[in-house]
Amino acid sequence: MRALAKTAPAPGLELITAPVPEIGPDDVLIRVKKTGVCGTDVHIWNWDDWAEKTVPVPLITGHEFAGEIVELGRNVEGLHLGQRCSGEGHLIGHSSRQSRAGKFHLDPETRGIGVNEQGAFAEYLRLPAFNVVPLPDDIPDEIGAILDPLGNAVHTALSFDLVGEDVLVTGAGPIGIMAAAVAKHVGARHVVVTDLNPERRALARKVANVTAVDPREVALRDVVSDLGMSQGFDVGLEMSGAQAALDQMVEAMVMGGRIAMLGIPPGKSPVDWSRIVFKALTIKGVYGREIFETWYKMIAMLENGLDVSAVITHRFPAAEFREAFETMRSGASGKVVLDWG
Ligand code: NAD
Ligand code: ZN
Repeated sequence: MRALAKTAPAPGLELITAPVPEIGPDDVLIRVKKTGVCGTDVHIWNWDDWAEKTVPVPLITGHEFAGEIVELGRNVEGLHLGQRCSGEGHLIGHSSRQSRAGKFHLDPETRGIGVNEQGAFAEYLRLPAFNVVPLPDDIPDEIGAILDPLGNAVHTALSFDLVGEDVLVTGAGPIGIMAAAVAKHVGARHVVVTDLNPERRALARKVANVTAVDPREVALRDVVSDLGMSQGFDVGLEMSGAQAALDQMVEAMVMGGRIAMLGIPPGKSPVDWSRIVFKALTIKGVYGREIFETWYKMIAMLENGLDVSAVITHRFPAAEFREAFETMRSGASGKVVLDWG
């Protein structure tokens, strides 16, 4: 099969011919149709410090996918050949306290496909049947291929009650934009997004119909008063990983406000803890998706009108992966999808 792999401990990826994976009794084999390119894949392409420490070589990369089941392990029940599916790319253990309590997303033994284990940038993917998420007929493959990042957005956005609340999203990358769309969908009052990149702000307005501002040009306190909010934002969703954005968020929150943080700051990042204490803020770190409650909620929302399709701005055949990664690296894109058909 064709697969996109890290073949040497150096920048880049290579399109290789690899054996079709053999599945175990509890696995399925998925014929991959579409895959999403993620910021994580760009880190792996760039071979930065994190990638060098984390990713074994050789490795087939990629973790955002949709496809169809073409083989079932002998113990697998409740799935069938031809089943369209996406799936959770975090492979969990079953022996930790958290897993045994049913909090699968908090399992410390979690391993990621395309990061620690063979991934989805390939014509076929082996996946534990446990991780499969069937796709309803009305969710197309390319949306199936971005359920992983949509799930990050949904997990973060649903961390706190948003009904009638004023929400600040810092960072209009694909995940911040989708989180803003989710916040609107579930009934937030005002949703404001910040980003430094004008193309990303424009995409946020287009996909999520939200107010998008450049925080270097517009003070958030002016946005708060222009929108008729009395004190500040009730809920913050940090989606940039930028220290400056978190600082601005803390300043713009109401007393007792709640912040969910998905963005990953590079290294240690100084935080003005006294502001957080005196404002009585709650901060929650968010990793991955709740397995499988986030998947349930996001599919239900997609079926009742949540539309994030415009966040996909570029589509390439898998053979044009270089162009796809170049597009991602330019910052002038939303989600980029590769076609393996
Ligand atoms: P992205 O890099 O595409 O988007 C980040 C956006 O933040 C960019 O558009 C950038 O212009 C903007 N930005 C940078 N500095 C800013 C500032 N000071 N104020 C406002 N915006 C600023 O990333 P993404 O794929 O959308 O992911 C969002 C974040 O979530 C990243 O930090 C990523 O590493 C992280 N992430 C975390 C998890 C998790 O499980 N915790 C999973 C996936 C992604
Ligand atoms: Zn991803």
